[in-house]
Amino acid sequence: MASRQTEGRGRRYSSIVDTIGDTPVIRINRIGPKNATIYVKFEAFNPAASVKDRLAISIIEAAEKDGRLKPGQTVVEATSGNTGIGLAMVCAAKGYPLVITMADSFSIERRRLMRFLGAKVVLTPRAEKAVGMYKKAVELAEKNDWFLASQFETPDNADIHEATTAREILADFDGERLDYFVTGYGTGGTVSGVSRVLRKERPDTKIILTEPDNAALIASGVAQERTPSHAPESGHPAWAPHPIQGWTPDFIPYVLQEAIDGAYYDDLLPVAGADGIAWSKRLAAEEGILTGVSGGSTFAVSMKVAETAPEGSVILCMLPDTGERYLSTPLFDGIPEDMTDEEEALSKSTPGFQM
Ligand code: PMP
Repeated sequence: MASRQTEGRGRRYSSIVDTIGDTPVIRINRIGPKNATIYVKFEAFNPAASVKDRLAISIIEAAEKDGRLKPGQTVVEATSGNTGIGLAMVCAAKGYPLVITMADSFSIERRRLMRFLGAKVVLTPRAEKAVGMYKKAVELAEKNDWFLASQFETPDNADIHEATTAREILADFDGERLDYFVTGYGTGGTVSGVSRVLRKERPDTKIILTEPDNAALIASGVAQERTPSHAPESGHPAWAPHPIQGWTPDFIPYVLQEAIDGAYYDDLLPVAGADGIAWSKRLAAEEGILTGVSGGSTFAVSMKVAETAPEGSVILCMLPDTGERYLSTPLFDGIPEDMTDEEEALSKSTPGFQM
């Protein structure tokens, strides 16, 4: 008998979409701080491997329920990738055609994954940034009478994190210490939804929000101009290109505005993309936890929080997606295809199969 046994989940799933959520909280053992314990909530366990699967099923099922989305109607959305991949998974399972608009600066594997999942991907010039891809999605929706998913404005975004992500955290830390919850923002759905619940049910937990140090939109204090439908009127002046894909578009999303206006976070800390990349690499190589740049960045901030946290503190760090989504990006720079000198030496150290 093997030393590890599993029991099965005790149920059979009627669709891939029913496997979304209930992601594991995992302790960091080797690279964590001495004085505190860091746990990560690892969203790569979702079926399409990111936190955005939650948002995708929420948007589609809410719109099905109130008739905004008709059977067979095309869904359209502007996305930096994970929302598109999540929507592609949900739309494939439920039989809706999907069109994604995306700036051509996001990783190649994101586009190919969406197309592999049956979606169409319309690229927009990177110079037009997130606002450009958003405007393209609106145009296509209006011209063709498609359903626009509106991840940056829809209440179905934060609501699903209130109903699932936050509830999972409460259950997993029931009766246990939880001193800090650390997250970044893309749409702000995670921070707005989780914080609604933590503020009420775990008022002693400090909520730490983070954003790229070179695109510190919230820290700038400059308000976002919006259209009557809450969409951004134009790009935010504090934005600059940053390497943390999925975080901080070039505007402050309406979904995030709730967390700003409601003072849902206790501290706002900047992080350098390079630090996020470095910690993502260490999470993979020293903990076996394969997460993307946003996960590494959230972890970098969690390590920073630990530096001044009281002895014995417990920190929960969101890891939004899988590192496999970044093979063609700077995250994998320096990871060679060919054998290194050390590997060559190993190869030559025995007689067989030398290249
Ligand atoms: N990290 C990555 C890689 C993402 O794709 C996203 C979502 N765009 C986030 C973090 C942030 O999540 P949220 O939209 O809930 O703020």
